[in-house]
Amino acid sequence: MNDGRPPGSALMRIAVPTPVRRYFDYRLPADAQAVPPIGARVCVPFGSRRVVGVLVDLPASSDVPATRLRAAHEILDDTPLLTAELVAVLRWAAAYYHHAPGEVFTAAMPGILRQGRMPPAREQAHWQLTLTGRDTCAEALRRRAPRQAEVLEMFHRAADAPVSEEQLAAGLGHDWRPALRRMVQRGLLTAATAPAAPGVQPPAPMPSPAPGPSLTTDQASAVAAIEAAQARGGFTAWLLHGVTGSGKTEVYLRAIRRVLDAGGQALVLVPEIGLTPQLVQRLAHRLPTRVVTMHSGMSDGERARAFLAARDGSAGVVLGTRSGVFAPLRNPQLIVVDEEHDASLKQQDGFRYHARDLAVFRARQLGIPVVLGSATPSLESLHNVARGRYSLLRLPRRAGAGEPPTVRLVDLRREAAEGGLTAMLLERMRSHLQAGAQVLLFLNRRGFAPVWMCVECGWIAQCPRCDARLTYHQRTMRLRCHHCGHERRAAERCQDCPGQPRPIGAGTEQVEQAIAAHFPDVPVARIDRDSTRRRGELERQLEDIRAGRTRILIGTQMLTKGHDFPRVTLVGVLNADGGLFSSDFRAPERLAQLIVQVAGRAGRASRGGEVLVQTSFPEHPLLFTLLREGYDGFARAAAAERTAAGWPPFSALAMLRAEAAQPDPAQAFLAMAAQRASDELQTMAPGGGTADVAVLGPAPAPMERRAGRFRMQLLLQAPTRAPLQLLLARLLPILDTASEGRRVRWSVDVDPIELD
Ligand code: ADP
Ligand code: ZN
Ligand code: ZN
Repeated sequence: MNDGRPPGSALMRIAVPTPVRRYFDYRLPADAQAVPPIGARVCVPFGSRRVVGVLVDLPASSDVPATRLRAAHEILDDTPLLTAELVAVLRWAAAYYHHAPGEVFTAAMPGILRQGRMPPAREQAHWQLTLTGRDTCAEALRRRAPRQAEVLEMFHRAADAPVSEEQLAAGLGHDWRPALRRMVQRGLLTAATAPAAPGVQPPAPMPSPAPGPSLTTDQASAVAAIEAAQARGGFTAWLLHGVTGSGKTEVYLRAIRRVLDAGGQALVLVPEIGLTPQLVQRLAHRLPTRVVTMHSGMSDGERARAFLAARDGSAGVVLGTRSGVFAPLRNPQLIVVDEEHDASLKQQDGFRYHARDLAVFRARQLGIPVVLGSATPSLESLHNVARGRYSLLRLPRRAGAGEPPTVRLVDLRREAAEGGLTAMLLERMRSHLQAGAQVLLFLNRRGFAPVWMCVECGWIAQCPRCDARLTYHQRTMRLRCHHCGHERRAAERCQDCPGQPRPIGAGTEQVEQAIAAHFPDVPVARIDRDSTRRRGELERQLEDIRAGRTRILIGTQMLTKGHDFPRVTLVGVLNADGGLFSSDFRAPERLAQLIVQVAGRAGRASRGGEVLVQTSFPEHPLLFTLLREGYDGFARAAAAERTAAGWPPFSALAMLRAEAAQPDPAQAFLAMAAQRASDELQTMAPGGGTADVAVLGPAPAPMERRAGRFRMQLLLQAPTRAPLQLLLARLLPILDTASEGRRVRWSVDVDPIELD
């Protein structure tokens, strides 16, 4: 297309890694032989530095006068690193989220590639079993070295074939290297001579995939609907609403299988991989292709290799977390987003994108199907179903023999809780434990107690840097702030009187202690960020649970995500009240999702499950509706409330945040922003009436001070996205150059999901 143009005069528009909200134009390097392809990396001068950017366009002209245009230093790729399709997605994302394009492109690339390098082209290391390794039983290792047992199992499954490091990374989904090293030392494994790996790697030899179960009728009709769309071709968005254990993953597997058979690739996004190594293994077992993962727990080299395997098509399936949505794909034919309601699909700092929303955009642009799966769909996705944008697929029943659990409320005003446990819950625990089952207790509060208080005078330990209370951690006898990390010894004397402060309320540490007192002989596992800090500790604990060695599990949110605990028949939600009276309009939705997700851990096996939810507000309409009408009923009620209040998905939001060491600069900056927004709205609406965007604030953030900084926010609310986008496009260039902006740290968040 550009072949006719002499290279010297061609212009390149580059996404340059800088926080500036625009692209930069350059001339081709003097010695360039040809015009590079869109998506190639280019080394350019930027100020006095050399930086690596990405070519996004070959414009016919530039706003910069020819004499001031600088020449690029060097073209780094002949074959584009990013596909043209991906470049278009990133450009759209930069525009939609009003974020600096260079940072958007940076977010899409693993570090090595971002720096203009390629991952070391070393031969893929392969490993294989020694004779001792072949004769060692994985179960025998399990107790002492669970990670090694997992690694060993993987080799046993591969029979005598060598296993590549990439397969290990994909199959184990966490840091497997230390285990492997120890096994080599112990003579269980040895390096194998790898098959040569020239250019595009042939897919690694796969043990033939395990067959799946025959589908339930519900699964079969979901699969049929997706297959029909696949056969037709073109974009379709599905919301796969299936209760926990209904076999959603099985539906994904069929749809992916069909894509692979047609020579295509599938992109699968999940909120967290570190917590769900099971899914990685399941995909690898069941699909006759190379599965690569992309997540933050991988080394830079591993990530870059996975990225390139996606781009050159040698990986049939790319399984990634949030940033996986930016994987370059040679022949993408399907995108799956599992747990589409999960908040961790939204990036909360820097480039604040939503991976689910970008996945849908990307699928539409590619003209391929996208499947969003959840047991508790977001109100956004349900609204898109109601508007006819997504098609609904339902799996209302569990796939196996498991019955849905019965759910009951326990009134904390009538039943006293000690160490978080009511007599009623203790009684049910005893009964389930006697029947040989496991019990899961959920409490979203780590530490021993959320409050350290003097009951004589009412003094409460506060964080000196945040508007927050300090949490008491008993094992270390320290008070810790869960927002900024501030920490100090828990003093035995009150600061204001001679009284002795003591812990009030219960966190997971305290519950663990209470359980030990009530059930001295029953093994307990506590799973929260404190107990799983050490590498490998979470896997070890999960393994003990799966093997049935642990009988009672107490944990935070970490326990609710994706895990399958077939022997759990009783779930206790120790305190549901946190989400009932929050200032964030999304809090009820989160609480309902949490209760349903955690309840879904009960009774996955054939035994019927039971769920007890402890609350001081049993008449609360949210809990009432959720219990009586299930998640569907809750979602209908919540949608009605949001319509009335004009919250998303019945409006569009953008949040401007500013923070500074003093309150005034942040306030002044956002007051100025509010004023300029109103001015712009005047000119946007000819005839004097203001365009349809409400400017709310500035107001202090719900936690006004955090880590010593004062935080303010300004909310922009509009009935639809269009006027909001228009306003932002006019407003941000003004704010970017405003002098008030120099004294604060500020940011824009389009479609914010946390209003804090
Ligand atoms: P979800 O992702 O909806 O929670 P999974 O796909 O993980 O559900 O399935 C839950 C359990 O049911 C798994 O143990 C899975 O192997 C099993 N399962 C799924 N589909 C079937 C089926 N058609 N027949 C028998 N078991 C199934
Ligand atoms: Zn006191
Ligand atoms: Zn703090």
